[in-house]
Amino acid sequence: MIRFLVWVIVFLLFWAMRKDEESKQRESATRYETRINELEERLCPCQSHDWRRTDFDFTGGTGCGDETTLYHYQCAKCGKKTVTYKILD
Ligand SMILES: [Zn+2]
Repeated sequence: MIRFLVWVIVFLLFWAMRKDEESKQRESATRYETRINELEERLCPCQSHDWRRTDFDFTGGTGCGDETTLYHYQCAKCGKKTVTYKILD
């Protein structure tokens, strides 16, 4: 019985440590995301990205020419990448 309790305690300890680690990683990812947005804003204020089309894909449809075209763009100033069905200038 004692052995079982020790295993349960060890399991809970590891579980708590993993949860703590995950929350730290999430926090740091959010911080990096905020920082990246801040730097993009400095390079391309008010979303003034200089989009250059780099690639395109077809998605959906029945294979008879009714597919939707997805365009891949990259900003020449900040390097941000995006995929959209819109034609960006
Ligand atoms: Zn940009």
